[in-house]
Amino acid sequence: MYDVNSKCADDFINHEEILETLAYADENKENIELIDAIIEKAKKRKGLSHREASILLACPIEEKNQEIYKLAEQIKKDFYGNRIVMFAPLYLSNYCINGCTYCPYHAKNRHIPRKQLSQEDIRREVIALQDMGHKRLALEAGEDPVRNTMDYYLKSIETIYSIKHKNGAIRRVNINIAATTVDNYRLLKEAGIGTYILFQETYHKESYLELHPTGPKHDYNYHTEAMDRAMEGGIDDVGLGVLFGLDKYRYEFAGLLMHAEHLEAAFGVGPHTISVPRLKHADDINPDDFDNGIDDDTFAKIVACIRIAVPYTGMIISTRENQKTRERVLHLGISQISGGSRTSVGGYCEPEPEDEKSEQFDVSDSRTLDEVVRWLMEMDYIPSFCTACYREGRTGDRFMSLCKSGQIQNCCHPNALMTLKEYLMDYASPETKAIGDKLIAKEVLNVPNEKARNIVLENLRLIEQDNRRDFRF
Ligand code: SAM
Repeated sequence: MYDVNSKCADDFINHEEILETLAYADENKENIELIDAIIEKAKKRKGLSHREASILLACPIEEKNQEIYKLAEQIKKDFYGNRIVMFAPLYLSNYCINGCTYCPYHAKNRHIPRKQLSQEDIRREVIALQDMGHKRLALEAGEDPVRNTMDYYLKSIETIYSIKHKNGAIRRVNINIAATTVDNYRLLKEAGIGTYILFQETYHKESYLELHPTGPKHDYNYHTEAMDRAMEGGIDDVGLGVLFGLDKYRYEFAGLLMHAEHLEAAFGVGPHTISVPRLKHADDINPDDFDNGIDDDTFAKIVACIRIAVPYTGMIISTRENQKTRERVLHLGISQISGGSRTSVGGYCEPEPEDEKSEQFDVSDSRTLDEVVRWLMEMDYIPSFCTACYREGRTGDRFMSLCKSGQIQNCCHPNALMTLKEYLMDYASPETKAIGDKLIAKEVLNVPNEKARNIVLENLRLIEQDNRRDFRF
């Protein structure tokens, strides 16, 4: 039976409840009165239930869809301003004992080169990432309890935080690794991770079991209940996601929101982020072998509906998407994007030879970080390298309550400007720097509080003239 508070995956992601939600959405997808009422509710910026949001997602009425897009854009602006947080993935290891049918790291793939970064390799990769200007990483790895041990992850995190190259530093390490135990989550928390990210892949249990035929990841309940264990282990920033293309997108959308509702109900704090990856070509994986691919319009609608359903949750888009798609969904709700990414193990130091590719998927946006930063600023976005929240203890419900009270705006805007200034001083090309300095001069006037504005102006001066770094509110 559906029970949002239950700790059992079959209850909080209840199959019958999702089927009923989809049927209810179908019945009401052209019910203008109800759709208007849901849009009005969404305007209060307190979010929507999975049932309400599923009606909006199913709605085919063009005029209503335009209202949904407009509202998503407005909510995005209200909560995130024009800031976009920058990050890069760092692949630690592609050893994997799972049998995921959509991932080239599956155990039966005998020809993909298997690699695991040593601590010295990590040092080199991190220096390369710092030299690009990155401050925030998402660690990625396959599941291999013998090679990719918790000790290995902990040591890797310690290594990453310890490297200070020139003015560089990685200030926030997020991690996307296989579901694990409460004790291990506690260790990750103690090691100072930011967000624990785990994609559900699909919420459809039957499909999940088929798509993960072998290996520990086959256990749907263990995987789906991972965020509960992470929270029990003290990690209060967790990142959800589904891999769009594996099952029907409306089912996944309802499941995703039910998962968010469950975390909010059971722990008083919803997901910190939601990622929206789409299945991509990779080594021996052909997305055409999967029946549920979604087109760009549907993708945009999903992003917009997530935005208005969970306004306080950040949304992440990776380089799986090309420039055009990224541009479109940035307006509709995305708050974090990666730039200059490599999805291969060790790919930042040296490009891999053609016959030795260890990539997890093909990248569709291969621009450098500098190009991505410039492109964002040309569209009047502020690329932000801020990592202040979790370093100031603003995680979980503390982050959420600040966000809900609107106070987060007073920290985020100045922090974005100061970290962008650091980037411009240390890593930007002259062209990017010129655009950025102009943008900062304009945007600093938008710091509402005069006292804060003066502090920002002084800090910007110290960054430029005294080579000072790492100011934050
Ligand atoms: N091994 C970890 C686990 O068990 O969850 C996760 C790390 S994996 C490196 C990161 C994510 O990449 C996966 O969760 C999956 O959603 C995604 N992925 C795998 N194959 C993909 C493909 N062919 N195209 C796009 N994304 C893919």
